[in-house]
Amino acid sequence: MSEEILQLKSLTKHFNVGKKQVLQAVNDVTFHINKGETFGLVGESGCGKTTVGRTIMGLYNKTAGDVFYDGQNVHELDDKGTFNFYRQMQMIFQDPYASLNPRSTVKEVIAEPMEVHGLYPNKKEQLDRVIQLLEEVGLNREHADRYPHEFSGGQRQRIGIARALALNPDFIIADEPISALDVSVQAQVVNLLKNLQAEKDLTFLFIAHDLSMVKQISDRIGVMYLGNLVELTSSDALYENPLHPYTQALLSAIPIPDPDIEDIRERIILQGELPSPIDPPSGCVFRTRCPFAMDVCARSRPEWLEVEEDHYVACHLYDETLNESNQPDITINQKPVRS
Ligand code: SF4
Repeated sequence: MSEEILQLKSLTKHFNVGKKQVLQAVNDVTFHINKGETFGLVGESGCGKTTVGRTIMGLYNKTAGDVFYDGQNVHELDDKGTFNFYRQMQMIFQDPYASLNPRSTVKEVIAEPMEVHGLYPNKKEQLDRVIQLLEEVGLNREHADRYPHEFSGGQRQRIGIARALALNPDFIIADEPISALDVSVQAQVVNLLKNLQAEKDLTFLFIAHDLSMVKQISDRIGVMYLGNLVELTSSDALYENPLHPYTQALLSAIPIPDPDIEDIRERIILQGELPSPIDPPSGCVFRTRCPFAMDVCARSRPEWLEVEEDHYVACHLYDETLNESNQPDITINQKPVRS
């Protein structure tokens, strides 16, 4: 049986943004990640996925809910517990250039977390370990004395990955690690992460808005919209049978490499703008852009339903009790197609 290494229980993160306004970045998000798997968290920019990652890491205090890592509540750790937690969980950032100190050489960048944690006090051993890490990410010892600006975007991300591996973590949060890279380099970095995962038995939370790449690397995927988790299932099930109208729209936007299919494929164009998380819609937060919205969608937030085994969705269209009750104001003209 799979061992759950990370659990989010109703995690909520709101930010006060002045004049008594509250930005609801993350609302009541619950999921778990099994040891050794890659969990993809996807959604448009501003949907709260990065805030989830940062709140897991303790970079933001939670507003409500809990995060458990290996059975420990990460927001209740004392200083020593937090220090040890950061050895086990590391982060890879979207912009590799911004996350690397431009005045430090590559070997200093990678060695810094080792020094903070008192690993390899012997300088020769430290340098050996830095070079080993460079080689593990596809670079070499000649790169150790250079500065970040001397590298391409893909190489910088490799340096960021080497730094994240410096403490030998078990869990890595990769926050849009390929978004800033050329398409041709994205696949190389994804393959590198997959290989490292297999070699080191790593667990990944892979945050992205690019659904096509997320499928390449993820075992399970959660879809977020305006701070809410709206669908969660295996990578295969999500792509073969997306249930939530938002997931269907996201998937329909992925280009298909075959030009014949690409020419005839139907795209779902969402109407309207993404609402503000300061003033989100009542009921279902997707209702202002949903082609299937019903009256009930404005009144009540949809329950988290297990529609198929291990396939969860938050949408009134799948709430059989609601539909069976035949409330007069519920009109489902067109249900999303389910294969
Ligand atoms: Fe659309 Fe209603 Fe489902 Fe929300 S609950 S996704 S508005 S049908």
